[in-house]
Amino acid sequence: MDDSALHILKTTFGYQEFRGSQSAIIQQLINGNDAVVLMPTGGGKSLCYQIPAMVRNGTGIIISPLIALMQDQVSSLQQLGVNAAYLNSTLDAAEAADIENRLLAGRLDLLYVAPERMMTPGFLGLLEQIDIALFAIDEAHCVSQWGHDFRPEYIQLSILHERFPQIPRIALTATADEPTRNEIISRLDLSAAQQFVASFDRPNICYRITQNQGNARDALLRFILNEHEHDAGIVYCLSRNKVEQTAEWLCTKGLTALPYHAGLPAKKRQKHQQRFLMEDKVIIVATIAFGMGIDKPDVRFVAHLNMPKSIEAYYQETGRAGRDGLPADAWMMYGLQDVIKLKQMMDSSEADEKHKRTEQHKLQSMLGFCELTSCRRQGLLRYFGEQLEQSCGNCDTCLSPVETWDATVVAQKALSAVHRTGQRFGVTYLVDVLQGKDMERIKNFGHDRLSVYGIGDELDSHQWRSVFRQLIAHNLLSVDIEGHGNLLLTESCRPVLRGEQTLMLRKESKQAKTARKGRKSYNTSKASDSQLWEALRACRKQLAESNNVPPYVIFHDATLVEMVERQPQNREQFSRISGVGESKLEKYADDFLAVIQSHVEQLNPEKTDTVAESLQLFKSGMTIEVIAEQRNIKPSTVYTHLAACIEQGDIKLNDVVDISEQELTAIQEAILATDDGQEKLRPVYDALDGMFEYEVLRCVRAAMTAA
Ligand code: ADP
Ligand code: ZN
Repeated sequence: MDDSALHILKTTFGYQEFRGSQSAIIQQLINGNDAVVLMPTGGGKSLCYQIPAMVRNGTGIIISPLIALMQDQVSSLQQLGVNAAYLNSTLDAAEAADIENRLLAGRLDLLYVAPERMMTPGFLGLLEQIDIALFAIDEAHCVSQWGHDFRPEYIQLSILHERFPQIPRIALTATADEPTRNEIISRLDLSAAQQFVASFDRPNICYRITQNQGNARDALLRFILNEHEHDAGIVYCLSRNKVEQTAEWLCTKGLTALPYHAGLPAKKRQKHQQRFLMEDKVIIVATIAFGMGIDKPDVRFVAHLNMPKSIEAYYQETGRAGRDGLPADAWMMYGLQDVIKLKQMMDSSEADEKHKRTEQHKLQSMLGFCELTSCRRQGLLRYFGEQLEQSCGNCDTCLSPVETWDATVVAQKALSAVHRTGQRFGVTYLVDVLQGKDMERIKNFGHDRLSVYGIGDELDSHQWRSVFRQLIAHNLLSVDIEGHGNLLLTESCRPVLRGEQTLMLRKESKQAKTARKGRKSYNTSKASDSQLWEALRACRKQLAESNNVPPYVIFHDATLVEMVERQPQNREQFSRISGVGESKLEKYADDFLAVIQSHVEQLNPEKTDTVAESLQLFKSGMTIEVIAEQRNIKPSTVYTHLAACIEQGDIKLNDVVDISEQELTAIQEAILATDDGQEKLRPVYDALDGMFEYEVLRCVRAAMTAA
């Protein structure tokens, strides 16, 4: 591995080692070769191009489709002390010109650009004049015409290779499926690139799916209040109306929930997104229009109030939870109504027949996934062609195994009811017939005279609906393609009808059993630790506000968690926390150390009195340097401790510093002359032309206060 890459990882990013294939990918680019990277969200894709861009000569050009994402990445890099900038439509002409000048002067390590700007003759002309370290094509699945993130400009990106054949390129995406991957490779002319395909497992996400028994909204509220009252999350709904209503309703329950959908004015959407990024505990209620380009790492839950239209969509949407690797929940509630609605939406779309059939098929797979009685994670990964040997222990079916029952006879009754009524009716009507309801409509059709009329009183109507839903999920019934919601028999229902096949179905529990109390991103049983956690979060929030960046750009939750666990006492220890690089050490160590210090002192005043400890060692005859080394703090800190002791009268000034009477007078005069009530030492230091160290000045001042 290239030494400089590892060095940058440690000093700039503050991480100790590369993850997974990061180092191989980085090496590939440093060597000047191309790469295609498929890695799940949160896998650490950004480092794969950021580090080689910094190692290689010239500027790394990153093509990124979303403005919010660019801004986020650039502010994070700037916090790390990296020369990074972006060019997009939010900049005015002067700002853009300034960045172009920096680019031409070779003063940028990384430049993020929107694809439409990338392809302008003006920008391509600029690129001809500079050294380019690499091209990174982020969200590369945007070249795929079938995906819902399709960007026409992405297709033109193949000309990069023609115009700049020597420059290494890296295409990255978290979209897992093979057709998309092949499309990326062929459209971007990357067939010679090495492919890096990571596992798509997201072990920190707990998957939970329950059936909607008409109580979805209450269940959602319970889930949030019980498990994520203080967290940021996303709630997905199928329609704009439902988005609005749900957001409003959650607000009446005391939560901060903001709607987000394509029908809102752009300004308002922008504002809601911004609040989601900048504030703590904001819940976004959205249609799928929200999410791509949201890099917020501490989204603790993603909830679906409706079923997504495919497993791909489910994976992508739930994947927005827990990018930081800390525990997160993917929670979903769905019902038969979703399936019918989705079918209707698909049917009314403009797509051709072949495309529609694919979509139907994907929906069917999604439904099957919802009805799984085995491990969800295994099912999810299997769909993407990955094998997980053991069940995961972190999904609803693992946490509370599903009970099944022999539903063969009941299924036969349901299937016969569909058959006898001519495959022209929906679930509600069929259940009425099976239960022998005394209804005008049934009589008008003469269905009260059918053999299936009233043969189903062993189940209540909820249970019957569940049976029908599962029959659809098992593909024994299908919902009419015209979208009227009437059920049709499928080929595969024959063996069950004839009694040649037993059918096991899941037993519905009345309540979602998997709710766990008090699960938080930071899970601790110690009250004192959660006090410190809150104090650190408050400190981070304040710093974020004064720097005008989202809190996670200052430090991720994972870094704060480590601070709570290790409680660093000095800069050296602080620098060893993962996520603390040189720039952030310089900028923020003192603020966070002060929070930790005051926490420790509050907890344990005598034993941890750090001043007293320094004093004791000093009195025992140790020099300041030895004390500093033994206590693993800086000598200047020991001086500060001793100055406090001088002020308290515990020791004398000349016990600590060795200066003449004349020198003492000079310092005292300078202190008095520069005194403006702010107790700053800098003016004193300057007034004395830097003849005395700050430590000496501090002790003299302490002696003056004591006297
Ligand atoms: P992706 O773009 O693949 O979704 P990111 O690049 O945003 O993922 O990285 C996800 C998180 O993992 C970020 O918080 C990032 O700082 C962190 N991360 C990435 N690489 C490492 C590493 N080698 N060690 C520790 N943390 C890492
Ligand atoms: Zn599982």
